[in-house]
Amino acid sequence: MCNKIIKTITNPFGEEEHQYCVKEENHKYVCRFKEDYSVFDDDKTYVEGKIYNMAYSTAGSTASNSPILNRASRFSPPRVISKQEEIRLKEQQEYRVGVRKTEVSTFEQCKKVEVDLYNDALSIYDGDGCDCPLCGVPITWEQFTSRDRTDGNSVQGCHLDPLEEGTIQHYVGNVKWGHRDCNQMQGDRSIQDMEEKLEVMLSHIRKIKNEVTRRENKPTIQW
Ligand SMILES: [Zn+2]
Ligand SMILES: [Zn+2]
Repeated sequence: MCNKIIKTITNPFGEEEHQYCVKEENHKYVCRFKEDYSVFDDDKTYVEGKIYNMAYSTAGSTASNSPILNRASRFSPPRVISKQEEIRLKEQQEYRVGVRKTEVSTFEQCKKVEVDLYNDALSIYDGDGCDCPLCGVPITWEQFTSRDRTDGNSVQGCHLDPLEEGTIQHYVGNVKWGHRDCNQMQGDRSIQDMEEKLEVMLSHIRKIKNEVTRRENKPTIQW
């Protein structure tokens, strides 16, 4: 490995961190801290963007009453804000300004997430298998590269222990590729809450699926 320091960053905790080159020793051309995305051929730009967004930036909050910036850097935020400041900004209706102090990550944590997501993407690409962490069904490359946001089988980064205000849930192993449908079904439930919800729904659905009274009310098409 080249291991040359490309850049030194002061992370949100005030510590200095280095971005090291991941290319082989004595490589040609410029150094690079990101993994090698050229292996994904025609999909390289898409895959790099997908992984980079997931590993290095926040999901943000789409809630209209949240001042938290959508897609802010997790390790080198444009602005780290405290709870007091967040409350003040909310009162002034100043939105989209930074990342919460309690939710920032170090560059090293983000890099580990990148490597893990990269390796899983490579397994999907090579057909070696990588299962959705929620339904357990293997993810296909077609699903992984689907740009169709209405496609329930398209693939998103999922936080298994869901993002929760005030806690760092962004760490290797907790961020995995999963189906959009599966991720949306989980929402911000914990795995245990999801199990309870699904058990209640499943036993109920099994009871009502063959219910005849509902069917009898179904209108017939007149033309
Ligand atoms: Zn290098
Ligand atoms: Zn799934």
